[in-house]
Amino acid sequence: MITVSGKSVCSGIAFGPVFVFSREESTIKRRHIESSDDEIARFESARERAIEELGTLYNKAIAEVGEANAMIFQIHQMMLEDLDYIESIKNIITDQLINAETAVGQTCDNFVQMFRAMDDAYMRERSADVKDVSERLIKILSGRDKGAIVSDEPVIIVADDLAPSETVQFDKSKILAFVTEGGSTSSHTSILARMMNIPTVIGAKGVLDSGFGGKSAIADGYTGTLYIDPDEETIEKMTAKKREIEKQNELLQQLKGQKSVTRDGRHIELCANIGNAHDVGAVLKNDAEGIGLFRSEFLYLESKDYPSEDTQFAAYKEVLSKMVNKRVIIRTLDIGADKQVDYFRMPKEENPAMGIRAIRICLQRPDIFKTQLRALYRASVYGKLAIMFPMITSEWEILKILEIIEDVKKELEAEGIAYSKSIELGCMIETPAAAVTSDILARYLDFFSVGTNDLTQYTLAADRQNPDIGPFCDTRHTAVLRLINTVAQNAHNNGAWVGICGELAADTELTELFLAMGIDELSVTPSAVLPIRKKITETDVSKIKDEVLSKYLK
Ligand code: PEP
Ligand code: MG
Repeated sequence: MITVSGKSVCSGIAFGPVFVFSREESTIKRRHIESSDDEIARFESARERAIEELGTLYNKAIAEVGEANAMIFQIHQMMLEDLDYIESIKNIITDQLINAETAVGQTCDNFVQMFRAMDDAYMRERSADVKDVSERLIKILSGRDKGAIVSDEPVIIVADDLAPSETVQFDKSKILAFVTEGGSTSSHTSILARMMNIPTVIGAKGVLDSGFGGKSAIADGYTGTLYIDPDEETIEKMTAKKREIEKQNELLQQLKGQKSVTRDGRHIELCANIGNAHDVGAVLKNDAEGIGLFRSEFLYLESKDYPSEDTQFAAYKEVLSKMVNKRVIIRTLDIGADKQVDYFRMPKEENPAMGIRAIRICLQRPDIFKTQLRALYRASVYGKLAIMFPMITSEWEILKILEIIEDVKKELEAEGIAYSKSIELGCMIETPAAAVTSDILARYLDFFSVGTNDLTQYTLAADRQNPDIGPFCDTRHTAVLRLINTVAQNAHNNGAWVGICGELAADTELTELFLAMGIDELSVTPSAVLPIRKKITETDVSKIKDEVLSKYLK
């Protein structure tokens, strides 16, 4: 037996044969051509076909993984419309009188080098997209089809790395697991794999070393391990683990329809996080009690220009109506840092995570903020809306926000447009500054929601985008947990309620601690709702409170 270890990206256990995915390398034959016009026409028709193919892939991806995740194919389409890219290919054809395949290959190399040299991690990752798009063009030009799948029987796919277009093109019924040598947790491919709910291991160094193709294997997406030619003992152990997980999942289904109440009668509101209206299906399927975080910036990320008030109104109305009077917390625009939107034309920053992002953009450009607030207030009559503001650090920001909201309300009243008078207002606690002064902030607000992803990076000075940060980004660090406790106390002493919507909310090892702190709401990825409900219903807070508080807060 050979054991290869990597990093888990999506849990689950799969047994099956290994299929080594190797893309047919495009060895491009350089050819001299007579007429650049004919060659450019050939390139243009391949480009059109590639755009068409990407449109089909986009529609397929929307159905399988939702609009936000399908967006990558629109980005690829946009790359094929990029004037610099097109011009470079045409110039190479004309100047060197060589075939389109070679011109695309040369342009691709130049663009990849350019992207790789960029400071911005997001832009560096785009080099993989340029390669993917160029590869598609070359395959069309050289009359080779892009490899769909693979195998008649379900397989564990082993690859160096997978492009988003490859991942989504696979016939899902034939994929047992993905195991890749490369990859990063925040790559589009990892996100797609999670949305498809396929066990996935990345960073499995050595998985391509020797001829594993066709061998039987077990992929453990919980521990991030691939066992090749597993021995009897491992087969037995993993079979038992798989059976146990299936049993647990069945048992979890019985918790649907139940409230998340502890043994000693404390109810905690258990909600889900979403990125767009499409995700509401998973929220309802997993019986979440509300939406604790709607990342509204996805509306902006999915759009080629500022989404209009009416577009936003329609999206908010849809989510509120589908949730039928369950609370929906919509977070106002949180772009900047890793979430860049071209049409905002933000100046380049040395430290974008600490720069003009989220509420700072909204306060500097109140026109954009007002459009969103108008859409939110108009939609408020269709359900139980709460609004929260991201990246708050100071009291004056809240005062300014409240002033802008008053203006918006006056405008709507003057126009005779109805809005709910009971919208709760809250803010994210994502900075140590907000946590430490939460007693002051609570005077103006109904609730807080702790964004542990950012709160952790700012408290520990550990970049959440850096894959090599390892133990320096300890999500259970005492400093972070103490800050959450401070926020809970300050909220309750000042008449506000408090939730957690960062990834830490789904850490079941900490559920007891959050209950002991008196956290009122947890908002997690939809598939984590039932496991946490189980933990809540098994806990007697009065019995564990003192022990867990001293264990974690020290
Ligand atoms: C957070 O920071 O914890 C959070 C929920 O916001 P995001 O992950 O979108 O930055
Ligand atoms: Mg955040």
